[in-house]
This record gives sequence, structure tokens and C-alpha cells, in this order.
Amino acid sequence: MEFPSSTFLKSSSPSSINGQIIDSLCESNGVSKLKIPEVKFTKLFINGQFVDSVSGKTFGTRDPRTGDVVAEVAEGDKEDVDIAVKAAREAFDHGKWPRMSGFDRGRVILKFADLIEQHGEEIAMLESINSGKLVHLTKESDIQFATNCLRYFAGAADKIHGETLKCTGEFQAYTLKEPVGVVGHIIPWNFPTVLFAAKAAPTLATGCTMIFKPAEQSPLSILYLAYLAKEAGIPDGVINVITGYGPTAGAAISSHMDVDAVSFTGSTEVGKLVMGAAAASNLKTVSLELGGKCPLVIFNDVDINMAVQTAWQAVFFNKGEVCIAGSRIYVQEGIYDEFLKKVTDNVKDWVVGDPFDPQVHQGPQVDKEQFDKVLRYIESGKREGATLLTGGKAIGEKGYYIEPTIFTDVKEDMLIAQDEIFGPVMSIMKFKTIEEAIEKANNTKYGLAAGILTNDLNTANRVSRSIRAGGIWVNCYMITESGIPFGGYKMSGFGMDSGLQALEKYLKVKSVITPIYNSPWL
Ligand code: ADP
Repeated sequence: MEFPSSTFLKSSSPSSINGQIIDSLCESNGVSKLKIPEVKFTKLFINGQFVDSVSGKTFGTRDPRTGDVVAEVAEGDKEDVDIAVKAAREAFDHGKWPRMSGFDRGRVILKFADLIEQHGEEIAMLESINSGKLVHLTKESDIQFATNCLRYFAGAADKIHGETLKCTGEFQAYTLKEPVGVVGHIIPWNFPTVLFAAKAAPTLATGCTMIFKPAEQSPLSILYLAYLAKEAGIPDGVINVITGYGPTAGAAISSHMDVDAVSFTGSTEVGKLVMGAAAASNLKTVSLELGGKCPLVIFNDVDINMAVQTAWQAVFFNKGEVCIAGSRIYVQEGIYDEFLKKVTDNVKDWVVGDPFDPQVHQGPQVDKEQFDKVLRYIESGKREGATLLTGGKAIGEKGYYIEPTIFTDVKEDMLIAQDEIFGPVMSIMKFKTIEEAIEKANNTKYGLAAGILTNDLNTANRVSRSIRAGGIWVNCYMITESGIPFGGYKMSGFGMDSGLQALEKYLKVKSVITPIYNSPWL
């Protein structure tokens, strides 16, 4: 998930720059004028302290603009996870956080949100040097989502309650909603701050304690957020951060006997491992937000310019590194040719370059592995017979920049139509009828989200109900808010991030039954 905020469609598209690859990228290849913000926090955050890993090992975290190491970060593994879980356990079993009133917890969470807002620029810069995200967009979109999310769940913290139930006979019952305990959060690199907030906010509201395992590509902003959490007054042990690799630190969390729940966002492949580890250990509660290959279905009756802009942003926003990217574009035959022409024209206004430059629309892919993977998919598209309309190549000698790439004549069984590429690659397909559109949209193992562009209410309603996915956008795309539930169908996972439903992931329901004597109202 990886979700952008609702501001993204408002962000103005293309300036008048026509060179696509602006100077900053050329400079980044010469590495002369790169901005590198100060990196203050590089150690594990356990029980309110920044500490070295037990092994003393570190790993280099890299700037995707150049591929160079920007900081050495502590490499946590099983031993460090054990220590962090102990701290979180102690904070849950004996600490004040779960025992405070929801109202008081809410006040601390609000302070945390204020601090994130105040430090938005530094956080955005750290995200940029770790994952190539646009600084200006991260500031106005991701930081805003994160603070809104914390404020939304701060307001929910004192509204968590069970219900009273009538029983047959001389009994009454009520339910309690209790915090599940110690929660493990394993998150990816494409929206680190957004996902931190989406997971931390409801977890904090319920009174649980937690361990975060950020992606190895993007630990810096999460460590900074941990520091701000302490500044806000969140007690020691409530939020712990173990930086390190998935098969070591991540697996130690999902298989830990003393972790009560794990909330994972990442690939379907790793999601299965997390679920397997939870099953093989203590049957901890699992929630998974996994991959997507989302369809955007465009009908003949829409404004073509709106359709092109929506499709463009659906695919190329955040360089395509979005699980809800609308990477399968289905266009009805009546507007197909015009759509191809206009979408190709759009390329000239799209600027790829240094994500610190406010005029840039697309930064580098997160790392060499993703960069190579995207280029391999582009090659597979060509090999399997799709037509390359535009793009298809890497840009520059240094860093992980890829041209916005568009394929037409894509067949349903091609890899580029089936696999989650996680890069700036659009696959366009034609359809004739609404039935065909529904069948094709559902022709995927994923079910995260879908978009429908039409002016016909009946078409919108029918297609919305026929697509097996957790989120549907009609005449818009990627609009998300803290109050709107977000989660998948099929192999995109289960459990909701966002919306009041997110609280349920971190709560257990207990029923209490008592006799009731001599009541005239039985
Ligand atoms: P992506 O494909 O987006 O990089 P991954 O699913 O590989 O996503 O990674 C998402 C998160 O899961 C990262 O924090 C990563 O370190 C972690 N991870 C990777 N492998 C495992 C594993 N075996 N167990 C637990 N976490 C893992």
C-alpha cells in the first residue's frame, strides 16, 4: 500500500518544460549538485533508545539518484527482535500506555501528528534519498496523509467499546474490545511514512505496543519518526524499530512466540511466508496488504482528456511504485485510437529527474533490483509481441531512471498484463462490450482496486459491483483518506488499513456473561 493521499490528482500536471530529462538529472549523473540532507538516526530504536545491533553489524542504505551509500544503518536480526519484543511486552503488560484512558492516548497521538507536520520537510528529504520519492509531493501528500491519519485515530481512541447483549434466561452479556497486545508491523519502501502512520495510528489508539521493521531500502524516515514519537510523549517500549533484512529481522517478527499480531504490507510472495511463519509459531493474528494489478476501464462516453490524465497518473504516479497503480488500461474501441494518440502526446510534458527538483514528475526507481526487474518486464513485453508505443529504456549512466513506457496490443496472458511490475509501464488493451470489460478486469489473481471512467450511472454501478476488488474509483483514481477502509480481495490480502475497520486488527473481543436475578424485564 501503499497509498497516496487524495491530493495527488490535484497536483498539477506538467509544467511547460519540454525536455523531459531536466538538468538536475544530468547533474546527478555528474553527482555535482546533489542535495543530501543530514541523517541523524541510524541505529535501532528499542525501549526509547537508539542502540547498536547486538552483532554490531550495519548495512549501507543507498540513494537511488546515484546508487551510492548515504548512510550505514544498524542491521538488526533475531537477537535484536527478541530484545525489542521484550520491551514491547513489558510496555504492554505493565506499562501505562494500554492503561491510560483513550482520551489521554488521543492527546499524545495528536502531539505526535503535530511534530510530524513540523518536521515534514526533513522526513520528505529522507524518503527521497532512500526511495527516490519527489520531495515536494511527499511533503504535500504523504506527510499530510500521515498527520491526518494520526489525528483521525486519535479521535477514535476514546470511542472503542463493546456492546451489551440480551441473553435468553436469567443472564446478561456484554463484550469488551481489548488491545491484542504486541504487534509486529512489516512495511515496504514505496510509502514509508504513509504506511508507518496507517499502521501505527490505529495500533496506538487501541493501546497496543509495537515493533516496526521498515524495508531495508528505506529505514531513515522511520527512525526519524520513532524519535518524534518519543518527543511527543509516547512511552518507551510502545514503538520500537528494528532496521534490517526481511529473511532475518522480518522473519524473526512473524515467527516470534510473543508477538500477538502481525500486520504486513508487501509482495504476495512474502505475505505467504509471513502467514506461514505465524501459523507455524503461535497462530498470531495476521493481516496482509499485498500486490495488485489494477484495471482502469475507460468507456466510450467519457471526456478523452480526463481519461488520458487519469490513466497517466494511475500508472506513472510515484514512478509506478504503487500497489494500486492502474497498470492495466482497458479502453473501449470507440475512443481507442484517439486515446493512444493523446496518451503518447502526454510524454513530452512529463519530466524525469532529480526528485529534489520541484519541476520533476518522476524520480528514480528505488534500487538496482527494481530497476533491473522493470527493464526485464519491458523486454518481456517486446519479446511477447506487444507494441512499444513510447519509452522502454533506462535514462542516464547513473541512478535508476526509466522512461515512462507504454505498450499497446497487449494480450491478456502476457507477463506485462499479469504481473505486478511496480514501475512506469502502462499496458493498454481494447474492449468492445461491458461484459468483455468485466471479464478482462477480473482476469487477475489480484483484487486490490480498480477504476471505472464512464458517464453512465448504470455502467458505473454494474461494473463497480462486478469487479472483485477491495476499492473502486469511479471517474477518479487513487483517492484515499484515513477514514476510508483500504484492503484487498483475492491474492491482494485481507484485513483493512484505514477506516474504523483498521482498529479491529488490533483488538480482541471478549464476552462477559453474568446471571441477572429477579429482573421484571427478562
Ligand atoms: P517489495 O517486493 O515491495 O520489496 P517485499 O515483500 O519483498 O516487498 O518486502 C516488504 C517487507 O517485507 C520489507 O520490509 C522486507 O524486508 C520484508 N520481508 C522480506 N522477506 C521477509 C520474510 N521472509 N519475512 C518477513 N518479512 C520479510
